[in-house]
Amino acid sequence: MRVVAVPCLKDNFAYLVIEGTQAAVVDPSAAAPVEAALERAGVELAAIWLTHHHWDHVGGVPDLTTARPGLPVVASAKDSEKIKGVTQRLADEEWTETANLRAYAIDNPGHTLGAISFRIADAVFTGDTLFGAGCGRMFEGDPAMMHASLMKLAALPGETRLYFGHEYTQSNLRFAAAVEPSNRAVADRAAAIPAPSTPSTVDLELATNPFLRCSEPAVIEAALAHGAASREPHEVFRALRAWKDTF
Ligand code: ZN
Ligand code: FE
Repeated sequence: MRVVAVPCLKDNFAYLVIEGTQAAVVDPSAAAPVEAALERAGVELAAIWLTHHHWDHVGGVPDLTTARPGLPVVASAKDSEKIKGVTQRLADEEWTETANLRAYAIDNPGHTLGAISFRIADAVFTGDTLFGAGCGRMFEGDPAMMHASLMKLAALPGETRLYFGHEYTQSNLRFAAAVEPSNRAVADRAAAIPAPSTPSTVDLELATNPFLRCSEPAVIEAALAHGAASREPHEVFRALRAWKDTF
């Protein structure tokens, strides 16, 4: 299995997940860059996998499916009402299979209530739940929900590759440094951000992503200084997320 990141719109990533001559595309926000990437890779589109219903993740679906009648379009059962043309609705840990591509859904409510990540082998596509050194805003969920979703991803094996939905890593690391000025891993990562910065790994996020570090004493202290109601991880998370929203 091979993954090709496809920059779309201003800072979105779609991804081709390639096995042999077949590919699934994750979050095609626009059709044209995905078509070009398919042609460059010399592969055929076999499925569309959608992490959530936002327009900047599903915008390319109509054009891609019009050109390929019957193409499977896979999304969370909870989001499927909000997306036109979904053909398979996944529950938590339910599998989707097309050609030689087999992935399962990880329910990640918070950014949206129906947000999911797709896991295939050692790769996970996180949409707008987890970003490099950051996380998505809570448009539909609450802090406890979003924090639990991030902890699910954090519990995956350390070498798991995390392919996220937006290139926000640089600005996220500026925030991470404000939360933990003495975190060397944050400084080291900020000094050498690859372009693009996707994928990350679980280990790298555990070391540098403040939203996964809500039990670290330094993060707790910073959150308390920014209005956290208690040292409870989801209260620390709530304060960090609110701080980041205006950072
Ligand atoms: Zn989104
Ligand atoms: Fe997005």
